[in-house]
Amino acid sequence: MSKLIPENIDKCTGCELCVLEAQRQLKKVGLEGALIRIFRKQERKTEYLKYGIDIDPRIEQLNLEKIKNICPRAVYKIIQENESKI
Ligand code: SF4
Repeated sequence: MSKLIPENIDKCTGCELCVLEAQRQLKKVGLEGALIRIFRKQERKTEYLKYGIDIDPRIEQLNLEKIKNICPRAVYKIIQENESKI
């Protein structure tokens, strides 16, 4: 089973291209029912905005490679999870 992992969250610029790609694959317009959510983190000590990423496990049904590749900041990686974990 493949899993989409936000590996370099610090690089995220909040552009939401990954969200739009996931929505496109679901044939949905807008953000309702989005399987990826990008949210702004409050970082008062720094002038730069930081983002968090929430991924619904149902994302596995989508083409993860396309979602990973659309990110201009190479935030995601795909890992293979062994389904027969003990
Ligand atoms: S596409 Fe990449 S940079 Fe843009 S919001 Fe998604 S994870 Fe962040």
